[in-house]
Amino acid sequence: MNPTVTQSVDSEGIGWIVFDDPAARANVFTPAVHADLRAALDALAALPLKAVVVLSAKERIFIAGADLKWLSSLPDAAAVAAAGRDGQASFARLTNFKVPVVCAIHGACAGGGFELALACHWRLASAAKETVIGLPETSIGTLPGWGGTVRLPRLIGAKAALGHILKAALLPAAEALAAGLVDELVPATELRARAKAAALRLAADGRPARMGPPAADAAFFSGARAEVLKRTRGHEPAPLAAIALIERTAGLAVDAALAEEARVFGEVTAGEVCKNLVHVFFLKDAVKKLTVDAWFPQTAATVAPAPFRKIGVVGAGVMGSGIAQWCAARGHEVVLRDVKPEFTARGLAVIRGVFDESVARKKLTPEAAAAGLARVRTTTAWDGFDDCDLVIEAIVENVAAKQALFAELAKVVRPDCVLASNTSALPIEELTAPVAGSGRTIGIHFFNPVSRMALIELVLSPRTARETAERTLAFAKALGKTPVICRSSPGFLVTRVLFFYLNEACRLWEQGVPTDVLDAALRDWGWPMGPARLIDEVGVDVTDFIFREMVHYYPDRFKSTAVCGRMLDAGMKGRKNGSGTGFYTYAGGREALNPAMAAFAAGAKLTLSPEAITERLNRVMIDETKRVLDEGVLKTADDADFALLMGTGFPAFRGGLMRYAKSIGEVGSD
Ligand code: NAD
Repeated sequence: MNPTVTQSVDSEGIGWIVFDDPAARANVFTPAVHADLRAALDALAALPLKAVVVLSAKERIFIAGADLKWLSSLPDAAAVAAAGRDGQASFARLTNFKVPVVCAIHGACAGGGFELALACHWRLASAAKETVIGLPETSIGTLPGWGGTVRLPRLIGAKAALGHILKAALLPAAEALAAGLVDELVPATELRARAKAAALRLAADGRPARMGPPAADAAFFSGARAEVLKRTRGHEPAPLAAIALIERTAGLAVDAALAEEARVFGEVTAGEVCKNLVHVFFLKDAVKKLTVDAWFPQTAATVAPAPFRKIGVVGAGVMGSGIAQWCAARGHEVVLRDVKPEFTARGLAVIRGVFDESVARKKLTPEAAAAGLARVRTTTAWDGFDDCDLVIEAIVENVAAKQALFAELAKVVRPDCVLASNTSALPIEELTAPVAGSGRTIGIHFFNPVSRMALIELVLSPRTARETAERTLAFAKALGKTPVICRSSPGFLVTRVLFFYLNEACRLWEQGVPTDVLDAALRDWGWPMGPARLIDEVGVDVTDFIFREMVHYYPDRFKSTAVCGRMLDAGMKGRKNGSGTGFYTYAGGREALNPAMAAFAAGAKLTLSPEAITERLNRVMIDETKRVLDEGVLKTADDADFALLMGTGFPAFRGGLMRYAKSIGEVGSD
C-alpha cells in the first residue's frame, strides 16, 4: 500500500514530511497513518538534517483529525486509551526530534491535526479561507487525546486553552494567530517558502523559548463547570471531563499529564454519549452524498440536472420572506410576490433585517449583503415570474387557496419551471392537482426561521418526476441546507411527529400535570425547551391549526386536546403575534408561568414522575415515527432521526429518536 506520509530532504538539509492519503479526499489519522508518520521520522532521523517541515498536499484539508469510523469502532475504554497513548507517542517523536520541526498549515487543521501541529516547534498558517484551526472534539462527545489538553494549556494558558476546547470551534487562520494557536500567518502561495525560512531560522537560533503559561485558579474551573452544567444539564460528560482533566494536569510534568489524558480520553470516548454524537456527526455527513436514487429505482440519474437560477417566491409572510432572503444571499435572483404593496414592503423590511443581522454577526460583508438585497424584486402582479426556474409558494396553509394559486401560477411560468410548495403538512399532490404536467411539482418544506434552521424536507408527490427531485435536491444542498427526502403524506415527518407529541403534552396538562413540571421533565431529559414553552414559541394559533389538520388527516388516531383552542379564544397566542401570553407570560422579557391558564384547567391534579412524563411523550413520538417508516414516508430510521434532530431540537446526545428507541428495546435491531 502507498504510504500516506512521505519524506524527502532538499539540498539545504531541510527534511519535508508530507501528509497525502492517495485514497481519500481528506487526511485523517488511523493507526496506519501514525505508523507511516513514524516510518517517515525514522527515515529522516538517519540523515543529516538542519530542520524538518511538516505539511499536507491536500488543497482544502490539512488533517481533519482522527478517523471517527476507526475511533468509534474501538471496543472499550482500554482500547481507546491505548489508541490515545499510541498517537501521543508518535507526536512526541516530533517534539523530541533531533532538529526543530515546523508545521505549515493550509486547509482545515482539526483535532488530531492540530495536536500534531502543537507537538511541532513552530506553526505557520496560510491566510486562505479554507484554513481553519482548532480542537472540536467536545462537540462530538470526546476530548483531545493526543496531547491537546496538555500542550495547548502550556502554550496559551489553561484558561484560554479550556475556552477553545469547550467552544469546540475551528478558528479562521487570522483568529488562530491572534489566539496564539499559530505563530505566523503567511500568504498561501508563500507557505512552503516561508516554512523553509522558519525552519532555517530555528536551525540557526534553536527552538523558541515559550513563556510559561499563566496559572488558572480553582474558581475559574468551578465557574467553567457551572456554565457547562447549565448548558448541558450534566448530560454531556466530555466537556466536564476536559475541565477536570486540565485542572488536574496543568501543573503536572508533561509525561504524567499525557498519561492522565489518555486514560480520560478512553473513558469518555468509549461512553454512550460519544457514540451517539459521533452517530449524529455521520448522519449529517451523509447528507453530502444524498441522492434521489432510492426513490426512483426504475430510472437512471439525469445527466447534469439543470441548476435553478431565478427563484420566484409567492407570499411575503414569515416563511416567504425568509426563503427569499436565503436564496438571494446564496446568489439567486429572486422575485417575491404578495397581494398588497404593504405586504411586500413588510416582507422586504424583514429581508433587510436578516441581511443587517448577518452583517452584524460577521456572516456577510456589508457589500455582499447589499448585493443580496438588490437581488430581490417584489411585485403584487406576476412581473418577473415568466423566466423563473423555480417558484416556491408560501401563502396561507389552506388547500383551496394553494390550489387556486397553483392553477394561476401554471399559466404564468415557463412549462419547465418547477413548482414547489412550502406547506408544513398538506399533501403535495392535493395542492398541485390543478397543474398540468405535474411532474414538475414538489414540496420544499423549510423550517422557521429559515436563516437559522438547516433542515429541509423535500417532499415527493406520486407525480414528482425524477429530474424535478434531482434539481431540487441539488438546489437545497447548494443553499447550504441539509435535506431529508420523504414521500408526500400529511404532516410529512417532522410536523406529524412533533404535533402528536405536543398534543400528548397538552393531554398531560389537561389531566393535571402542571406546566412547570411538564416542561422541566422534558428539559431535564435534554430538550432545549419543554412542550408548553415550545407551543408558545411556535404560536398557540399555529399549534391549534395544525392539531385540526391532524384530526382531519388522522381522524382515527389524533384525538385533539382542547386547551390550545380555548387559549386562542381568549386571545392568547403564545410568545409571538404581539399578544405575549400563552402557557407563560413574557412581559419585560421575563418569562413566568401564566396564572390565566388556571381558567382552562379542569381542576384535575395528576402526579407523575419526570420519568413517567418523558416515557409517555417519547412513546407517542416513537410510535408515530414507526408508522411513518412502515408507511414508507421515509426510507430509513436514520432519516427520521436526522430530521427530528434538525427539525425539533431532539437532544443530539441521545443520538436520535429511533436510536434511543432501540437502546431501550422499543424497536428491534436491524
Ligand atoms: P404568513 O401568514 O406569515 O404569510 C403568508 C403570506 O401569504 C401573507 O403575507 C399573505 O398576504 C400572502 N398570500 C396569501 N395569499 C396569497 C396569494 N394568492 N398570492 C400572494 N401572496 C399571498 O404565513 P407563513 O407562516 O409564512 O406560512 C406560509 C406557509 O409556510 C404555510 O403553508 C405554512 O404552513 C408554511 N410553513 C410555516 C412555518 C412557520 O413556522 N410559520 C414553517 C414551515 C412552513
